[in-house]
Amino acid sequence: MQITIQRPAQIGGQMTRISTHSTSIIIDLGHNLPSNDNKDALDNDSTIAELTQGCSAILYTHYHGDHIGLFHRVPDSIPQYIGPVAKQIVCRKYQQLCCLPEKECSAAFKHAFRTASNMKIFQAKQTLYFGDIAITPYFVSHSAYDSYMFLIEAEGKKILHTGDFRGHGYLSKGLEATLKYFVGQVDVLIIEGTMLARPEEKVRTEMELCQEATKQMNVHKYSFIHCSSTDIERLASFKNANNRIIPKRALITDAFQKDILDLFSRTAGKQSSCFDFGQVFTYNEHNQKLKEWMITNGFTMFVRATPKFHSYLDHLLPILPATETLFIYSMWNGYITNGSTQNTEYIRLQEHFANNKILHLHTSGHATAEVLRKVCNLTNPRLAIIPIHREKSTDFKSIGISPSLQEKIITQDYSMEGIDVILAPTSHTRQ
Ligand SMILES: [Zn+2]
Ligand SMILES: [Zn+2]
Repeated sequence: MQITIQRPAQIGGQMTRISTHSTSIIIDLGHNLPSNDNKDALDNDSTIAELTQGCSAILYTHYHGDHIGLFHRVPDSIPQYIGPVAKQIVCRKYQQLCCLPEKECSAAFKHAFRTASNMKIFQAKQTLYFGDIAITPYFVSHSAYDSYMFLIEAEGKKILHTGDFRGHGYLSKGLEATLKYFVGQVDVLIIEGTMLARPEEKVRTEMELCQEATKQMNVHKYSFIHCSSTDIERLASFKNANNRIIPKRALITDAFQKDILDLFSRTAGKQSSCFDFGQVFTYNEHNQKLKEWMITNGFTMFVRATPKFHSYLDHLLPILPATETLFIYSMWNGYITNGSTQNTEYIRLQEHFANNKILHLHTSGHATAEVLRKVCNLTNPRLAIIPIHREKSTDFKSIGISPSLQEKIITQDYSMEGIDVILAPTSHTRQ
């Protein structure tokens, strides 16, 4: 068996290929994370055709671009799989992108929309079979909804690929039980290590974040929230904070975000009221009645860094009392601090609120060192631990696992018991 991992020592842009003598599958086909130097050597049709050649299926852990970003380049003959709600989110996102005024992009977005619409879906805990490879998805909590880890079984070996996950979300409760009762001991653990580079970062639970948001919303009648438009748990934290305020304040956004929230209410919202967003209103500057109600009772508005929201803010902020208006930025700080990861659009959005209270209130979508250690201990890998999705400078040993597990950490090419691990192949044609 061969396990080939592209770009293991960076966050994002991941691809893992698992091959037996007869069958190959790929887990994730991600683009490099957006940065000022956003070139991705894999981002062209011929390289992706070469990398995916002979592969029976591609399975995505979740819909973040650093895991799915190259899906539109995959030849139509290779089936691609994703979670059921994740598929709907990807389709809605590309439907939105197809409407952008930049005509030069529209053909590419239309192609991506068609490719996403043709994706197959898998269900949690239902095993898929490709040749002699069995692969079972297990639900995890992450800043993308409908995210999964995969248990791969082939040639008598068990491999767990965690994807991106965390232990401090509302949806993290099942993590330990899943590992104990469904996964058990594995031979190889392929595990994310995003948080290793940020040991000092404060990691609140979503519940704690919700409590802090409630406190702030209680003293600010008008709240504008900038968070990921598809992160169900974060959106729920702010929705739940909003719902605790009396008298009731409206939840306002645009048609795209409303569609996503309504989708969450129809799916996860049926399992738990935490994810039922209730009635969400679409902002329209010509709807005088809605505007009067918003100003009288207060409101919470989910915003994004797009021209439409800049226009909404230009229109709304001058008529709202500055001291009662709050802006919450709820994403990774790296997008607004200086450096290669800075997003100028995010900064522009925040600049609207120069006269208002600005609060940075966030918690990571990734597992802390403590949770990574727990996963290592629960799966007790017999042969190897392969850390991926991490900064190059980080040392996975720092999570504090036992010396015998530390010895199993692999950061360069290695062979054991019939498994060849190929990390960061120098040529993408190497198989
Ligand atoms: Zn990621
Ligand atoms: Zn992710």
